[in-house]
Parts: sequence; structure tokens; C-alpha cells
Amino acid sequence: MKCKLCKREKTEKELCLFHKQAYEKIVEVYVQWVDALNINWEDYLSEIEKNSLTGKWAKEVIEFIKE
Ligand SMILES: [Zn+2]
Repeated sequence: MKCKLCKREKTEKELCLFHKQAYEKIVEVYVQWVDALNINWEDYLSEIEKNSLTGKWAKEVIEFIKE
């Protein structure tokens, strides 16, 4: 089976290792943001999507999560 976002083989989740790692990083940072900013998940995703520092892998994952 392939990753939902690219042609690589997927892991036990629906994503490949790279996209899975990006996803886990997004969740990890969200936990910190919730503590500091009391932001909700959708707003958080919009914010990091707009952020030019957000990497390509993470942006693809955001598109996937939002669907
Ligand atoms: Zn992938």
C-alpha cells in the first residue's frame, strides 16, 4: 500500500514515514500552542499552513488532515 500523500510505501498508518513524522511533529507543536495560546485545532492548522517556515511535508499533511 502507498502513502496517501506520495508514492512511498506507507507505514502502519495511512502515511509514509516522512509524512507520519511531519504529522507527529504538528501534533507535538499543537500541544505546546494549546498551553500557550489556547488555540483550537483548525485555527492552529491555518496558522502553520500560512507560516513560511512550515516545511513541504507538513503542508501536505495539513491538506490531508483538513479534508
Ligand atoms: Zn508520504
